[in-house]
Amino acid sequence: MIVNKGMIAVLAILSGFVGHAIIKMIYLPETPRCELQHQGWVLYAIRSLICPVQWHLRMGLTLIYSPNACHWRDRKECLMNLSILNPLADNRFDQRLRHVGEEDFNAISIRTVQVNVGLKCNLACHHCHVESSPKRTEEMTWEIMELVLQAAKKAHARTIDITGGAPEMNPHFRRFVDAAIAQGHEVMVRTNLTIMLEEAYTDLPEFYASRRVHLVASLPCYLETNVDRQRGKRVYQESVEIIQRLNALGYGVRQELPLDLVYNPGGPSLPPEQSALEAAYRKELGTHFGIRFTKLYTITNLPIGRFQHDLQRQGYAEKYQDLLERTFNKSTLNELMCRHQLHVGWDGTTYDCDFNYALKLSANTGHIRDFDPALFLARRVVTGPHCFGCTAGAGSSCGGSLVADDAGTANNACGAAG
Ligand code: SF4
Ligand code: SF4
Repeated sequence: MIVNKGMIAVLAILSGFVGHAIIKMIYLPETPRCELQHQGWVLYAIRSLICPVQWHLRMGLTLIYSPNACHWRDRKECLMNLSILNPLADNRFDQRLRHVGEEDFNAISIRTVQVNVGLKCNLACHHCHVESSPKRTEEMTWEIMELVLQAAKKAHARTIDITGGAPEMNPHFRRFVDAAIAQGHEVMVRTNLTIMLEEAYTDLPEFYASRRVHLVASLPCYLETNVDRQRGKRVYQESVEIIQRLNALGYGVRQELPLDLVYNPGGPSLPPEQSALEAAYRKELGTHFGIRFTKLYTITNLPIGRFQHDLQRQGYAEKYQDLLERTFNKSTLNELMCRHQLHVGWDGTTYDCDFNYALKLSANTGHIRDFDPALFLARRVVTGPHCFGCTAGAGSSCGGSLVADDAGTANNACGAAG
């Protein structure tokens, strides 16, 4: 058989790629997935050919001298590769930070521990960045919840912010809420409301009220068609029914029972100005249903997860990224949630925020069992082009906009934003 140079090159590429992936899978099973996700097959194959010797030497030395550090070092390496080899992911957000003199994008405090207790949800919304649905099975164990509570105590965090999926579907959810309250934290739960109509969950409003849990509820518009288009049929009516029940218990009426609503655009636009939209929500929901609530949070959709798939399908992905980058607002930087919180994924991995969690970009600080507040505060936040979603216009966080609006859409109608 004639073996030409081309065949040798192809074989070398294939063997480099396969060998590299196999050895990494043995040492660090999550790494190839992480690299593939960010580099794509072609760049991953090229890199596999040119650097396996160097990589294995470094990894071998790390395994010998610092075995516990492998996991986070490897993730860090994955992120470094991302900016060195993947031009798409050459981190434009970091470049922008450098441009405005803010390259030290470090943590500032740990006010909040945000916990994703699992990905199962009774809904499967179009904009869901963690891609939850009734089919997901990932959920946090009680052992990890205990570690989260220990970490929150060590960090002197004021708030435990519980999210999912529908967090209520985790079998340890109520025990976790009680333990967090007993430890002295304010407990905030991000609920989709409709879960409270499902069998086995109908007593949740009373459970919440008796413990004074702070509720943050998704209601992405005051108009039925927009909510149902984004979240599924009948979700609007069901949400209204539950908010009325919560109001009857004092939620959104009494100061100690806060009920905040969350708006996010249905399409590729920035949210309207938060206070103007809040006034419109109060008027519409008050007039038609007698509904009351505490605050409205406007949240920008980040170009990740199902929302990004939708943008790509409709051909808006580039335009939307461009809009986020054009409206970058430096004054949002100090209040970005990643600089004031610890986020814990369902498996105990630590992250900077919910969005990095969705992208599997861990905070390079390992598992919650190894949590050290000083080390966590000393880390640099892991960034990517998606971060422009938090700094666009008035800024965006799980607590709504970050500064007075000077770049959001001018109107105050949620219908127009979708
Ligand atoms: S957006 Fe919220 S309610 Fe909708 S599927 Fe995702 S986790 Fe569930
Ligand atoms: S996505 Fe937002 S909150 Fe998360 S790291 Fe980027 S800027 Fe921070």
